[in-house]
Amino acid sequence: MYNPLLQDIKFLQGVGPSRASILEKELAIRTVGDLLYYYPYKYVDRSRIYRICEIDGNMPYIQLCGEILSFEAIGEGRGRRLTAHFSDGTGVVDLVWFQGIKYITQNYDCHKPYIIFGKPTVFNGRINVAHPEIDVLKNVNEVRTGSGHDSGIYHVSAYQQSLFAESENVSGRDVGGKDAAETQTLQVTSANSASLRPAYNTTERMKRSGLTSQALAKLTANMFVLFKNPLQETLPVYIVERHHLVSFDEAMRNIHYPTSSDALRKAQMRLKFEELFYVQLNILRYAHARMMKYKGIVFSRVGNIFNGFYNEHLPFPLTGAQKRVIKEIRRDMGSGRQMNRLLQGDVGSGKTLVALMCALIAVDNGCQACLMAPTEILAEQHVESIRRMLGDMPVRVELLTGNVKGKRRKEVLNELATGGIHILVGTHAVIEDNVCFSRLGLVVIDEQHRFGVAQRAKLWIKNEVPPHVLVMTATPIPRTLAMTLYGDLDVSVIDELPPGRKPIHTVHQFDSHRNSLYASIRRQISLGRQVYIVYPLIKESEKMDIKNLEDGYEQICAEFSNCKVSKVHGKMKPSEKDIEMQRFASGETQIMVATTVIEVGVNVPNASVMVIENAERFGLSQLHQLRGRVGRGAEQSYCILVTNYKISEDTRKRIQIMVDSNDGFEIAEHDLKLRGPGDLEGTQQSGMAFDLKIANLARDGQILQYARAAAQDVIDNDPDERHPENEILWRRLKELRKTNVNWGAIS
Ligand code: ADP
Ligand code: MG
Repeated sequence: MYNPLLQDIKFLQGVGPSRASILEKELAIRTVGDLLYYYPYKYVDRSRIYRICEIDGNMPYIQLCGEILSFEAIGEGRGRRLTAHFSDGTGVVDLVWFQGIKYITQNYDCHKPYIIFGKPTVFNGRINVAHPEIDVLKNVNEVRTGSGHDSGIYHVSAYQQSLFAESENVSGRDVGGKDAAETQTLQVTSANSASLRPAYNTTERMKRSGLTSQALAKLTANMFVLFKNPLQETLPVYIVERHHLVSFDEAMRNIHYPTSSDALRKAQMRLKFEELFYVQLNILRYAHARMMKYKGIVFSRVGNIFNGFYNEHLPFPLTGAQKRVIKEIRRDMGSGRQMNRLLQGDVGSGKTLVALMCALIAVDNGCQACLMAPTEILAEQHVESIRRMLGDMPVRVELLTGNVKGKRRKEVLNELATGGIHILVGTHAVIEDNVCFSRLGLVVIDEQHRFGVAQRAKLWIKNEVPPHVLVMTATPIPRTLAMTLYGDLDVSVIDELPPGRKPIHTVHQFDSHRNSLYASIRRQISLGRQVYIVYPLIKESEKMDIKNLEDGYEQICAEFSNCKVSKVHGKMKPSEKDIEMQRFASGETQIMVATTVIEVGVNVPNASVMVIENAERFGLSQLHQLRGRVGRGAEQSYCILVTNYKISEDTRKRIQIMVDSNDGFEIAEHDLKLRGPGDLEGTQQSGMAFDLKIANLARDGQILQYARAAAQDVIDNDPDERHPENEILWRRLKELRKTNVNWGAIS
């Protein structure tokens, strides 16, 4: 059967080979179907026509209706430009072109009615509109508005653009000149009322070849001419009906050419739902398949080890949140299902202790546990603190990192294979193929955002029956995002900090107030505290105003000549980095100058000041992570966010959020709203789709919930994928997985 969506874009009217190659290179549009899914990024309300006498240079895009009085070409060569003096009888504006001059003079004439559209600016005291869109006005009645102006202006009774001439089904609506006189503007009523016009994103290269937003609109208009029949539905009818969605055909027509703002809203709703639905269906189907394939190890009991620790070794009472989370995990691990759980907890909320207690349950059930950390130093710290907490309990904890070599490494590997080691703590060294456990029952991954889905999967095959997996993160992920990113994981949250923590005092300070900044640092050091100073870059960047780490290091050394200063950055060898970290951790150095490598997990309770230079260059979640490096001891801690005096409104807002809030979840929600999910810490490596075309995870959380429930419903009711009405779903999913690289990555 002929499917117009599969047609090569080259053959669409108005395209041809050279434009086709640009469309492919710039937008990956190869077929008519690709163009169909290239949604407008905004809509321009073309229902209002302004009078020239009422416009000024501060207005946004406006529409005028009038005629060109005369053309005037000025300058030579590259400085050449064309001006058209344009009037509607109430005044004159200059339309200006710097390019495509020949095209304009050949295609437009004086004293013919045009509608022009563009952004007015004031230049040399005159109002200019550079590179306006021009539409030819057909069927014009020239009328006087009778509002006291001497000259008449155009009243467009049938503004019929060739663009829309082919559309059907739309009836005209007449808005009389009465209103217009009152509002000082005229309503354009077209044959189809299509006053919301699409605007498409284009690249510089496309614009140079004439593929402007307007040109793309012509192509999408031609595309709809091609569709003689309604577009085929992409969701089962029962889902469309149950969720009160408009049909695919109606949605697509209205997303490009909305017949009204209500129709546009419904189209957006339908397409967002569909997009999120398939993302969720993909994840849930995968989770379901995994559950069917793998039975989990059953941890049926809590025995002497766990109880002994709980009763005699627990260094402090658990917080309510820690208790709740341990219960959730315990229930999961006893259920016969393989656990895949995400544990979210703000910096310092006590995740390590939770991990340890879960590991003890594994040990009680004759299994080993493995705790994986993203850096050597963090792994070492974990071993230390776990050993300290366990005291004289008969539980063996060993370390395996790249630093553990030779004979020692052999020993560890041997004892691991024979079951002599109960808890192995390490870096990603633990997932290497030659690391064999005797009976691995639980894997805990700390600071998840450094590990992708693929690495997680590698752990599942470390045991005959895949071990339970607990993924811990201190980068709180808003719920909507977690559902999309880690949709196959259950989520637990530690939403409570241990008692007695003093909130970190955060201040914003301008670059220029260095003296008072240094004074604060000096004061803390004289009290015996330590200080972090973090820079965004390690090498001079193209922007000269960015202080780099090396400069900063020298400056700090000079300023604090009686202190010892450590320096750590990402380009150092891991072993060098570790030595510097250790020097700071042991208190040998008082100041740590670093890039964001120190972001993850390092615990130096004596450090009480975190200075972040060029704070405007960091994301909110990242700032929060960095701030979490201090405030770990009993002392009042400070975070000083240093920025230039000149910062954007947006930056000011973000800094203010940090100053106002210590709550990681609140900050993450703000971050998601301000920056969009694609930029969120760690999401790039996570292996999940972020190239959402229309849905926005920050704003469409509600739709996501519906979509997820609908997808879950399908999986529950048709687990074997047999129902004929769902056939369309599995076929579509297959297509999407083929075209969307990220989707494939999940399995
Ligand atoms: P994170 O969740 O950031 O990994 P940690 O596990 O490193 O946090 O814990 C931070 C600090 O809080 C540690 O020094 C730990 O000993 C302490 N801590 C953990 N749980 C409690 C608790 N229930 N009461 C008091 N202190 C606790
Ligand atoms: Mg931690």
